[in-house]
Amino acid sequence: MGIAHRDWARRGGRSAGAAELAVHIAEVRQSDLVRLEALVRGTVLPRTHPNTTARRRVLEALGEAGGLCTARTVEMSSGDVILCTRKAGHYDPDDLPGSSAGGRTGRPGGWHLAGGAIWSDIGAAGYPHTAV
Ligand SMILES: [Zn+2]
Repeated sequence: MGIAHRDWARRGGRSAGAAELAVHIAEVRQSDLVRLEALVRGTVLPRTHPNTTARRRVLEALGEAGGLCTARTVEMSSGDVILCTRKAGHYDPDDLPGSSAGGRTGRPGGWHLAGGAIWSDIGAAGYPHTAV
């Protein structure tokens, strides 16, 4: 039994009305959400690396992905749609990926990036960063 539930029992438990129960449940949910958000912000977020899909998902859960690029593409092997993990406004088609073919140096230049994938807005499966 958690602290919040002991508090509920002290306030009258089963003899209390349904409205009080609803208020109690809302309070418990709110405090759970606050603790969960603190955990995600303090523990999960710092363990994700910048420009990764994992970090993007954590930021989305926190409601803070608004500063990220909106470009998407389709991952050829899986068919999954993946979202660029870089900051909004980063895109520069003239800043070409790393010097070896296909950008295998790991340097994406000004192109979009998600996991191991890089792409430009003119790529066949790419959705431009300006589209939502
Ligand atoms: Zn991008």
